[in-house]
Amino acid sequence: NTHNKVKFDCDICGESYKTVKGLETHKKNKHTENRRTENKAHINCPICCKVYVNKLALQRHMTAAHKIINKQCDYCTDFVAKSQEEYDFHILKYHSQPQTSKTAINDLIMETVEELDEAIEDDEQ
Ligand SMILES: [Zn+2]
Ligand SMILES: [Zn+2]
Ligand SMILES: [Zn+2]
Repeated sequence: NTHNKVKFDCDICGESYKTVKGLETHKKNKHTENRRTENKAHINCPICCKVYVNKLALQRHMTAAHKIINKQCDYCTDFVAKSQEEYDFHILKYHSQPQTSKTAINDLIMETVEELDEAIEDDEQ
């Protein structure tokens, strides 16, 4: 699938990775030591480059200015969603109750795939 444009951005330095695994590895290698001082450091908004003193302030800004939420998954602490939609989708796909019908999940996946296809077609024209 060469048209897969999904990417995962490091919320600390902004580097992009094609897979969650790649991003996780990057974070472990590059940012683990900084974890403890992270709250005191100044953090740049990766979109408009405004500077914030802590992650919470940046998150509030991201939500208000860019509609990006960086919501961490309650179940797997490594996953951070950039939008409520992405978060809901992740919860549904990976942490939904067993009784949740598989059809509902498949429908959602199908919809997402269709949306992606449309977006790609728009890009190429
Ligand atoms: Zn990084
Ligand atoms: Zn910003
Ligand atoms: Zn999760």
